[in-house]
Amino acid sequence: MSFTLAIVGRPNVGKSTLFNRLVGKRLALVDDQPGVTRDLREGDARLGDLRFTVIDTAGLEDATDDTLQGRMRRLTERAVDMADVCLMLIDARTGVTPVDETVADILRKRGRHVILAANKAEGRAADAGIIEAYGLGLGEPIRLSAEHGEGLNDLYGQLLPLSEEFAAQTQSDTPETDITVDEEDADADAVRVPTRDKPLQVAVVGRPNAGKSTLINKLLGEDRLLTGPEAGITRDAISVQMDWDGLPVRIFDTAGMRKKAKVQEKLEKLSVSDGLRAVKFAEVVVVLLDAAIPFEQQDLRIADLAEREGRAVVIAVNKWDAEEEKSEKIKMLREECARLLPQLRGVPLVTVSALTGKGLDRLRQAIEKAYETWNRRVTTAKLNQWLSGMVEAHPPPAPGGRRIKLRYMTQAKTRPPGFVVMCSNPEKMSDAYSRYLVNGLRDTFDMPGTPVRLWMRSQS
Ligand code: GDP
Ligand code: GDP
Repeated sequence: MSFTLAIVGRPNVGKSTLFNRLVGKRLALVDDQPGVTRDLREGDARLGDLRFTVIDTAGLEDATDDTLQGRMRRLTERAVDMADVCLMLIDARTGVTPVDETVADILRKRGRHVILAANKAEGRAADAGIIEAYGLGLGEPIRLSAEHGEGLNDLYGQLLPLSEEFAAQTQSDTPETDITVDEEDADADAVRVPTRDKPLQVAVVGRPNAGKSTLINKLLGEDRLLTGPEAGITRDAISVQMDWDGLPVRIFDTAGMRKKAKVQEKLEKLSVSDGLRAVKFAEVVVVLLDAAIPFEQQDLRIADLAEREGRAVVIAVNKWDAEEEKSEKIKMLREECARLLPQLRGVPLVTVSALTGKGLDRLRQAIEKAYETWNRRVTTAKLNQWLSGMVEAHPPPAPGGRRIKLRYMTQAKTRPPGFVVMCSNPEKMSDAYSRYLVNGLRDTFDMPGTPVRLWMRSQS
């Protein structure tokens, strides 16, 4: 199914230039449709393998019967009504103007799918404007140069998942959500574990003998193998695909990789680098511990690596069948986890027995939940309400007697969730206060365990 994209933004930001680039020669003038102004340009756009209708709202602002703000307001509202997706352009060289803010305001409130792009972004002169654009509360801006054709890949990356969503929605009349758009991955979806073309990528990592092979075999056995072991992304990565109640899942088998090693002494070293590679492929990383020797150095290293790589993490404690004092032990494990992995505060900890299969349902649920959290998006309105509460409860530091002012914040990305806080003197912000905010975000918006990124930025 095709969809309609409206390019919106104040005069001179580069809307027509982008329109021409997307449409090429296939430009059509819309003239006599009722309710549509004569000079609204509409064309068939191509971007990669995507085909869609693009509307250029340029020219309409020139009507003289109103203030620029007023005209922009009406125009933007109309664009929202007419199009499936609104692409808002700002001029990165000029930075954000009050008229831009008016447009963004309407899009934030009414736009279902909004993509923000900072145009004229070629060269360094645009850097400040791009950072300012975060402050519009429409997520991470694409760096675009309509004139030079730069950034179109990123635009494609944001349109692709939307186009798939529209295709899936042609029949159903799903309720509107207040999410904007997603970035990074073409298969990203901000709302829930979606019906995916690509399977959910899971890596099971842990020390030799933790039980990784046993676990993967058990998971496969219970789910009746759909596809056998098959070649993975790289030559020596081994992965298996399975189906969890309709959710396709691919598990990277690092143990399988290890078993290809010939030299016994290399095992220890190899399992770390295998784990490393698996972590890079994965969306969710399961750190498998041996209940008899939990939280060894190597386990901690790999959990930390997963956090630094920004993956969703689940800790699974294996060989639970062999434990005697289960309730004592679980208490101890939780304490150790909190103490040794503070960077993953609240990370789900699940006890399993790969041998008997006990706890594997809970492990599957924890993996799906972690994935969902990793994709979570919080609205700008909620974030700012939360931020003022946090500041009131505990004011930011005042280095040299000048208190840092936190102005507002917005979520810039998902997978994992990342937030930008606009403030004065960001370079003077203390780690302790940043941690306070990150932990608060985790608690308030239910994001335990997942890596949370926080950037402090000044507005100028
Ligand atoms: P519109 O009023 O929003 O449709 O803006 P136009 O497409 O007419 O562009 C306004 C001006 O910005 C023109 O002079 C364009 O050549 C220029 N422009 C458009 N895109 C870019 C860009 O990516 N980089 C630079 N440096 N200039 C651009
Ligand atoms: P890997 O090196 O991480 O792949 O570990 P393996 O799957 O090869 O398992 C190592 C050893 O631990 C084997 O002897 C398994 O039978 C044993 N093992 C694995 N899972 C469990 C479990 O849940 N309970 C018990 N008691 N033993 C297990």
